[in-house]
Amino acid sequence: MINTPYTSDLVLIGGGHSHLAVVKHFAMNPLAGLRITLISRDIHTPYSGMLPSLIAGHYEFDETHIDLRRLCEKANVRLFHSSVTDIDLHRQQIICNNRTAVRYDWLSVNVGSQPDLDSIAGADEHGFAVKPIDNFLKQWHFIQEKLRSKKRTTPFKISVVGGGAASVEVALAIRYRLDLSNLSEKTEIEIISSSEQLLPTHSRRAQNIMANVLRQRNIEMHNSRKVSSVNSVDEKTVLSFTNSPSTSTDGLIWAIHAGSPNWLAATGLQCDAMGFIAVNQYLQSCSHPNVFAAGDIAHFTPQALPKSGVYAVRGGVVLANNLRRAIEKKALKPYKPQRHFLSLLITGDKQAIASKGPISFKAKWLWMWKDRIDRQFMSQYNELPAMSGQPLPSNSTVQEAEPMRCGGCGAKIGNSVLTRVISQLKPQQNSDVNIGLDHPDDAAVISPPEGKKWLQTVDYFRAFIDDPYLLGRIATNHCLSDIYAMGATPHSALAVATVPYANEALVEDTLLQLMSGAVDSLNEQDTALIGGHSSEGAELGFGLSVNGTCDQNNLLTKGNLTCGLQLILTKPLGSGTLLAANMAGNAEGRWVDNALNHMLISNRCAADIVHKNQALACTDITGFGLLGHLQEMISASDADIIMRLEFSSIPVMEGVDHCLQNNWLSTLHPENLHAQNSLINVEQFSTHKRYPILYDPQTAGGLIAAIPADRAQACLKELQNGDCPEAAIIGEVARREANQSATGNIFLY
Ligand SMILES: Cc1cc2nc3c(=O)[nH]c(=O)nc-3n(C[C@H](O)[C@H](O)[C@H](O)COP(=O)(O)OP(=O)(O)OC[C@H]3O[C@@H](n4cnc5c(N)ncnc54)[C@H](O)[C@@H]3O)c2cc1C
Repeated sequence: MINTPYTSDLVLIGGGHSHLAVVKHFAMNPLAGLRITLISRDIHTPYSGMLPSLIAGHYEFDETHIDLRRLCEKANVRLFHSSVTDIDLHRQQIICNNRTAVRYDWLSVNVGSQPDLDSIAGADEHGFAVKPIDNFLKQWHFIQEKLRSKKRTTPFKISVVGGGAASVEVALAIRYRLDLSNLSEKTEIEIISSSEQLLPTHSRRAQNIMANVLRQRNIEMHNSRKVSSVNSVDEKTVLSFTNSPSTSTDGLIWAIHAGSPNWLAATGLQCDAMGFIAVNQYLQSCSHPNVFAAGDIAHFTPQALPKSGVYAVRGGVVLANNLRRAIEKKALKPYKPQRHFLSLLITGDKQAIASKGPISFKAKWLWMWKDRIDRQFMSQYNELPAMSGQPLPSNSTVQEAEPMRCGGCGAKIGNSVLTRVISQLKPQQNSDVNIGLDHPDDAAVISPPEGKKWLQTVDYFRAFIDDPYLLGRIATNHCLSDIYAMGATPHSALAVATVPYANEALVEDTLLQLMSGAVDSLNEQDTALIGGHSSEGAELGFGLSVNGTCDQNNLLTKGNLTCGLQLILTKPLGSGTLLAANMAGNAEGRWVDNALNHMLISNRCAADIVHKNQALACTDITGFGLLGHLQEMISASDADIIMRLEFSSIPVMEGVDHCLQNNWLSTLHPENLHAQNSLINVEQFSTHKRYPILYDPQTAGGLIAAIPADRAQACLKELQNGDCPEAAIIGEVARREANQSATGNIFLY
């Protein structure tokens, strides 16, 4: 079945509070023809209202963060894990730090803010900011470790600079956490603020209640002190002020006024003096009507709004509606932010101060109330039901559906699109390629290197991830791996790409992303792209036919196993079950990220190392799973041998046990189970919770190499110090014992 082709791109930069509402809005009411992409630096995005209680230890990390990978998978939104560094407004492209530029028709920015460290000399090098929170948590953990380990004669001083809600909440959370760990006696905490009173935007009554709490919790307040610069002297951090003598501290935390990322103002978007994007009453850029912004990064021109999560959340609903209306060419609706709202200021000890206008009071139940509201907010995004997948054709479409699509040669991607994409690729040049991608001829022509063996292999994938750039990179690693497994060197490759039906601009973008990923990986591995074929189809797919060269003496095959050889696996297993869980929106974002990182590691370095350590046989673990590939090695070797596998030493990726327990298995798994005939003692392990991993198909999996016993430890060390930190010796080749059944040839222990 052909889904409604995509005709327009909405790109969301940053997974902040407002974009959560946008993702949910379009998941619930898809707009036919609209392709949505979220580019986010973080896969787990924090909910600001819960952060102080996370620092105090009342919540776990996952209770306070939304898993964007899981959310996007369910919402049919493409997630690109990357940091944006620039926007080319003229070409409508987003520049990212580790991938090809991403095109857009409609753009929305919700990248938040961070304490403005540029405004104080030395602030960037000394101390750390409360945002981004993952960095803060790392530093906070480091301080706690320091406090636990060090015997100090003088107390450790923590200084929080800033006078708003974030600084007092963080200081109180830190005090609570230190009390819990009995570390408070060793610590002094102070808040340094340039304003006359802490919480300057709150009523005098709220300020007084908070000042009392801070005194009770032994937190000093230094108001009307403006930090002018910071430096370090003899392991101490020294703060200089514009209006008072310098002081020193041991742990410096910045919670000062919000600043914007430096790159934004340089894009040409109209910004305010602080570099925040100027938006009108519709949250639409004042200078570029197809660009929107919300949350801290937006400067709302009708009236200045505080940089607060409350506005980011409430603006999200308006943003979602206006993006939809703009795309549908309907009149936009104004955002009417509330002037006064109830603030609940957390005091670290599971209590809170309510503050609205002149009214303020402190109570325990306020924290419980807030806890309930916050958990409800989180569950909206962490428990999103599975969506229908592709947007259904609806009355409201971005553009009329594309006309009927042809098959056969008529499904080829048009010449002009292809030419434009190829002209942007910079493939590696190889001197013995006589006719390659830069020639208009019908086939590539190569002069094979003299005296070398010529190897050829082919592989092709349906997309397992909706980021075409990443797919291009990983599929390339997978395809080249066959060459490495045979002790050879990749030489050149031809690509086959299938791109989902869409209008010309979107097809071109997808093809460029895909091919750029492939070429980046090929170039890193000194392999020339010399040609290929591309077509439109129902879904994204990519494969390569790869040529390699090898000296006859270096050729490694699957056979040749002899007794005593040690079996080394270079990467952990689990990509099959993790990708299956991800496609159903069940996997945790961090597991999938970790699995993708393993897939992004080429087997080149591992192949060099096992070869240097005299490997006698080798293969790569891919679609048939570990057992299927081991079975192939045994079948190709002497009939008398068996393999002894130490089950517990087989490395697996993070999250695998959870996925296996829930039976989230690859569709190839049942077929791979046929390999269980090769097990001598299947009954001993078949009920083990990790048993199914033996049959898990791997994408860009590691190598399994048979290494002489006297080289195995050295080889393992080298692998672990190189690209394969989780490499392991998982077993050995042995002779069948007399009491072992003649059926099967792999013994688990
Ligand atoms: C300790 C603390 C407590 C707070 N408590 C509260 C509170 O109780 N109530 C309240 O209303 N406010 C609170 N705030 C303020 C609140 O954190 C911010 O106002 C709020 O986070 C702004 O939300 P946002 O959606 O604009 O951006 P954010 O929540 O900051 O989200 C921005 C997202 O963009 C991503 N991103 C950033 N740069 C890039 C890039 N270049 N490329 C791609 N992605 C990028 C980030 O990964 C992040 O996921 C608190 C702040 C702190 C520090």
